[in-house]
This record gives sequence, structure tokens and C-alpha cells, in this order.
Amino acid sequence: MPNIDINAISPSFDPGTVWLVGAGPGDPGLLTLYALAAIQQADVLIYDALVGKDIIALVDDPSKLVYAGKRGGKPSSKQPDITQRIIDEAKAGKRVLRLKGGDPYIFGRGGEEALALVKSNIQFRVVPGITAATAGAANAGIPMTHRTENSTVTFVTGHSAFGEVPENIDWDALSKGSPVLVLYMAIKHLDLIADRLIASGRPETEPVAIVANASLPNEQVLITTLINAMTAVNEAGLKPPAIVIVGSVVDLAETISSHTL
Ligand code: SAH
Repeated sequence: MPNIDINAISPSFDPGTVWLVGAGPGDPGLLTLYALAAIQQADVLIYDALVGKDIIALVDDPSKLVYAGKRGGKPSSKQPDITQRIIDEAKAGKRVLRLKGGDPYIFGRGGEEALALVKSNIQFRVVPGITAATAGAANAGIPMTHRTENSTVTFVTGHSAFGEVPENIDWDALSKGSPVLVLYMAIKHLDLIADRLIASGRPETEPVAIVANASLPNEQVLITTLINAMTAVNEAGLKPPAIVIVGSVVDLAETISSHTL
């Protein structure tokens, strides 16, 4: 097979435009070809904390990099400042790559940035990325849907803009309506979330998988139950970023992962 010229199959990255790109869960092998083309062509890369460091290492010139995430416990860059920087760089005629962890439109504030670009009359392209749920489930040996088990799966955030469990979640409806739940940003309040699910009718013994650092060398998978989830996380010393998968599909993990490379 001939070598693939990634830039030749990718749309052209024009000066003065922005690409809003999902970098996937961290493993550079899970970047899309368009993401890689954008990394090679961008004049400036504005990236978040959850973009894998091996992905950042692909950038030829570190002076193109602008970090827009949390570092060393300092408060995160403010969203309006990040958005303004993207707009300013585009207006200066740069090819601006806005690189976000996972998929830009799943719990990533990509929508807010897209709306700001529209308001500033800046053209942009959105490149989807592999979201943490997809990578975490795959690596844990859990099909998020399995024909005999569930016809729906729901992505939920365990964290509001104020750092609390979001007020606007209808836990009763979720519990009844979605046999499989994949929770993002849920580790901090996992005890509260498990309590609410149990109070809404989910069995205490329902299987739960927690996947931390999915796709990275320090990936950890923990299988537990709803009632034991918080204790298990603390005992294992699991730290974010992690996703939490709740539902009977988690029972498939042991068998499937026994033959998963
Ligand atoms: N846009 C991202 C999500 C950003 S919100 C995406 O589509 O994946 C941040 C949350 O994503 C984290 O708190 C965690 O729940 C999840 N996450 C991101 N990267 C992860 C990873 N490598 N492993 C496990 N969870 C991850």
C-alpha cells in the first residue's frame, strides 16, 4: 500500500479560519486523520488539559502552543479569555486549531466556542473526536449497547458549571428510561449520584465500571456495584479523568476483556 498523504485527503486549512477538533481520549493512535492534518498545518494550537501529552508532542514547534487548561492547581483559564484568544488569532490571519479532549461537542463547551465564532463572523470546521465514553467502554470490554440488554444509552454529566451534581437531572426518568448510563465528571460526587440512582429504583447491586485515564498508559478499570462504587474508587485511589458506566452491560466485561488485546 502506498503511504497515505494525510494532507492531500484532508480539506485545506485556510488562514483566518478555525478548526474545532476533538483529540480523542489521549492515545495519539485514536486521533482522526483530519486531526493529524490540522496538527501538522496549524499556525497556533489552543489546547485543553485533557489533550494527551503524546498528542501535544506531535507538534513540531512548541511556540505554536497555547495552553488553555488547568495546571498545578491554579484556576482554569476563563472561557471568555479562551474564546477571545481563538477569535483574535483567527482575525490575525492564523490557521487556528482549537484542540479539545474527546469530542468537542460532548461536555466540552465546543458549542459555546462555535456560537462565539459565528457571532464574530469567523468560518470554522468541526472535526469530531472519540469521546471518553467510547474509548473507556471499548477498553473495559463493555459494549455500550448489547441487543439483549439495552436499546438506549445516556451520557450524563455529574458536574454542573458550579461544581455540584447538576440540579436539572431527572434521576427518576433516567433510572427508568435508560438501562445504561455513562457518567462523565462523576467521580467527585459518585456517592451522591449512586444514592440518587438507588433512590430512583436502580438496584444497589447493579454493576458499575469505572475507567480512569482511558487509552493512556496509566489506564485503570474498576468493576464494582452501585452501592460500593465510592468506596471502591477511594480504595483503589482512582483519580479523574474517569467515566462511570452503570448497567447490566458491565457484566460482559469479564468475558470480553479476557480475550481483548
Ligand atoms: N469532550 C470530552 C469530555 C470533556 S469533560 C469527551 O468527549 O471525552 C471531562 C470528562 O471527560 C472527565 O471528567 C472524564 O469524565 C471524561 N474523560 C476525558 N478523558 C478521559 C479519559 N482519557 N479517560 C476517562 N475519562 C475521560
